[in-house]
Amino acid sequence: MKKQFAVIGLGRFGGSVCRELYRMGHEVLAIDNSEDKVNEFANSATHAVIADATDERVLKNLGIRNFEFVIVAIGDNIQTSILSTLLLKELDVKNVWVKAQNHYHHKVLDKIGADRIIHPEYDMGIRIAQHLVSEKIIDYIELSEEYSIVELIATEKVANNSLIELDIRAKYGCTILAIKRGENVMVSPSPHDLIYEKDILIMIGHKNDLKRFEEEGL
Ligand code: ADP
Repeated sequence: MKKQFAVIGLGRFGGSVCRELYRMGHEVLAIDNSEDKVNEFANSATHAVIADATDERVLKNLGIRNFEFVIVAIGDNIQTSILSTLLLKELDVKNVWVKAQNHYHHKVLDKIGADRIIHPEYDMGIRIAQHLVSEKIIDYIELSEEYSIVELIATEKVANNSLIELDIRAKYGCTILAIKRGENVMVSPSPHDLIYEKDILIMIGHKNDLKRFEEEGL
């Protein structure tokens, strides 16, 4: 289903969010106060407009409140990012996701009602570190202090076994959400589905359980 997004700030982070959403076929309004940036995104967004995201009247005229999601990706100017977020929440935008620069920025964004606060460098650092320590881990998403989702490569050890035979949930307490095989993704696999070598297992569980499965079960 097509969704409507607005991305404010077309730097490295906002720019890649914008391009990827547009590539996936969503409607994306790209906003930046730099004319050069906006020109650069003319073909990577549904509309690209030059606008100052700290001007309430401008945001209103853009119909920003009609967007399902607004991403504030104003990088280094914390004050601008905070003011823009505040205006968007005042205008009643349902989902405002904001890139935070540091801990203080995060705290203020939280107070003024940002719906999700993103720390791209911090999150990416964790994911890369996880990938570095084990070649079985393709990706890693932290859900909380205790729980995460990981993508693991199926090794020879589990290959050609069904999920029932492996009995991963009982033995390790983690659950396979989906199996990726080439371009195919099997969501909620059945207990009789076989796993093949090099399949990618998308799993959720307690970090300790996932680690135990990765070290002993795979
Ligand atoms: P990154 O670290 O992700 O590369 P940058 O700080 O380089 O982020 O990019 C932030 C973008 O936000 C820049 O393109 C800048 O022109 C834009 N920007 C800054 N202030 C405003 C504003 N008030 N309104 C709209 N866009 C803004």
